[in-house]
Order: sequence, then structure tokens, then C-alpha cells
Amino acid sequence: METKILPVTDESVALAKEILLGGGLVAFPTETVYGLGADGTNGDAVKKIYEAKGRPADNPLIAHVHPDFDIGKLVYVENDYALRLKEAFMPGPLTMVFYSRGVVCKEAVCGGDTLAVRIPRHAGAQKLLRAAKIPVVAPSANVSKHVSPVTAQHVFDDLAGKIPLILDGGKSDGGIESTVLDVTEKVPRILRAGLITREMIAAVAGDCEIAAHLPGDKIRSPGVKYRRYMPRCKTARFCAEDTARAAALYDRAAEEGKKPVILCESGAKARFAGREIIDLGGSGEEIASNLFAALREGERRADLIIAIEPAGRGGVYDGVMNRLCKAAEKYEEGGFSH
Ligand code: AMP
Ligand code: MG
Repeated sequence: METKILPVTDESVALAKEILLGGGLVAFPTETVYGLGADGTNGDAVKKIYEAKGRPADNPLIAHVHPDFDIGKLVYVENDYALRLKEAFMPGPLTMVFYSRGVVCKEAVCGGDTLAVRIPRHAGAQKLLRAAKIPVVAPSANVSKHVSPVTAQHVFDDLAGKIPLILDGGKSDGGIESTVLDVTEKVPRILRAGLITREMIAAVAGDCEIAAHLPGDKIRSPGVKYRRYMPRCKTARFCAEDTARAAALYDRAAEEGKKPVILCESGAKARFAGREIIDLGGSGEEIASNLFAALREGERRADLIIAIEPAGRGGVYDGVMNRLCKAAEKYEEGGFSH
């Protein structure tokens, strides 16, 4: 199958709509990462997403809709705070998990009784969703376990030949996936950290928990248990204070003829002078925005990525650390471990 990359225009969106309504897959830009979409009401179409990505069959998909779409048609909105959160953060990088009305097919929710819903802010995503008028279920448009894509080229690198169309809407500036929030209980609970932080949610909803992901949890987010976001080369992770050991690993690898590269925040660069560096940026938002692109650049340029954890904690750093810890193994004396 030939894979086209087209800028988002009236014509390309009309083609994308035709493909989606015909049961095919379309990759599209959002403000977090690129999504791989299918008609959420068509079980056979949704199965193609799992096949194209090699995605585990127990990991449900997020339904994406246009701001004008009445989400009450898809889910039961039972808690008032969810309406306030919708008002405050949608459209945007927040996904809320409700009980489903069953309009979105069982293949997309892996047979479960809940549905995750998101309203993207990206103009290209909205143009597609407005035209399609259906819930478009979509995971990130990468091969399962690989780094999430933030450009059309990243999607092409992973899925060329497997999907007919990638809509190109430029680089996703959010850079990490949406916050996934369970809103079925009296207090909202973060299932996956992201750009909408616990502090931001608590300010609107009054309170916000963070899921411990225990085996008995009622609403589970199967995605959290898998290794994900992994570059194709060895990737070592060091804590922010551990720069001397990180530099020593770099120098040893270089002496052995390998091509190492350091990934670190701007403030840590001086400690790796004279070495190849990919700069993640200064603020938590900048680091989130650059992280996946940096990991993809690292695997292209090097055969060993040495990632230095940023020093900041809380807020958007929770989302950054969650991604980095799954992408890269902690380097301990004598080898890798988690
Ligand atoms: P991605 O794999 O990048 O598409 O991210 C989707 C995330 O949302 C994964 O972590 C899923 O496990 C989670 N998710 C999707 N639907 C649900 C749901 N109904 N309940 C809980 N988590 C969900
Ligand atoms: Mg993903």
C-alpha cells in the first residue's frame, strides 16, 4: 500500500473522511502527538489499528471528537466536576474516562464498560473531526512500544506501507500524550500524567488523586503496564545528580568506537562539554515538547542514548518522568535495570 503524506487542506480532509467512513485508517496531527484514527463505530476498522501498530489487544483507544460534538451521546457524564473540567481544559490535552453508552464499538474499548474521550485543540485535528462527524478512535501513530510520533515523517518512518494517508499538520507542540483522567468517581483520578497537571485539575475539581495502578483497581489503564516510548538503540537513564557517571559511560562508549549522545536539559549541558548533546530545553513544558523528537533524533544519530533526568519535579515533570522512565533503563553500576 502506498502511504501519502498530504498537508491538511479541504481536499486532503475530504479524502481522509472517505477513507475513515470506508473503514480505513488515517494518521492525523494533534497538539500532543500524531494519532492513528479509525471510525470508532466500526469494529473491523478498529481492528486494523491493532494490526498496523502491533498493539496489545487489551489496551483500549481514546475517542476523539470535535468541540461541537455532544459527548453525552457517547458517555454518561455523572459528576459535575467533569463538566467544569471540560469547560476548563477541552479542547486540549485532557482525556476523560466515563462509563460508555456503547456507541463506540467494543473493539475500541477492549470489551470494557468505559470510554476515554478527548477533544483535540489542533486546528488540523478539528478540521478532520468536523468533516467526519464521527468519533475517531486513535492511539498514537507509532509502532507499538516505539517512541510516539510528533511529526508526519515520524509516522511515515513507522507505518509506511501499512496505512494509506498521513495528514501533515506540522510538529505537535505539546510533545507528550494527553493526561488520562478517570471521572467516574466522586474524586477524579489521574491514570496517566500529561500536560494538564494534577494541580490544574485540583484547582477546578476541588481535588485530584493519582492512580496507584493496583491489580484490584476498578478502572484500569492497561497502557501503563507496558514498556513504551522505546528508541531503537540502547538508552540509559541517569538521575540529574549523576552526571559524572553519565559522562564516564559516554567516554567509555566513545573509546570503544560506539556513537553515544547525551540528552539533557539546557542547564546540565555545561557538565558534558566536548560531547555530542541533544538539548531538551529549559522549562518543563519545553522538555515535554522536545522529548519524543529528541529520542527519535537520538536513535537516528547514535547507537547509545544517555538520557539525564531533568531536576524539576511535580507539574508537567510528572508526565516527562513517566515517559522517560519507560523509554530508558536506569543505568546502575555494571549494567541496566529498572
Ligand atoms: P495511547 O496508547 O498512546 O493511545 O494512549 C491511550 C491511553 O489511554 C492508554 O494508556 C490507555 O490504557 C488509556 N485508556 C484508553 N481508554 C481507556 C479506558 N476506557 N479506561 C482507562 N484507560 C484508558
Ligand atoms: Mg502510544
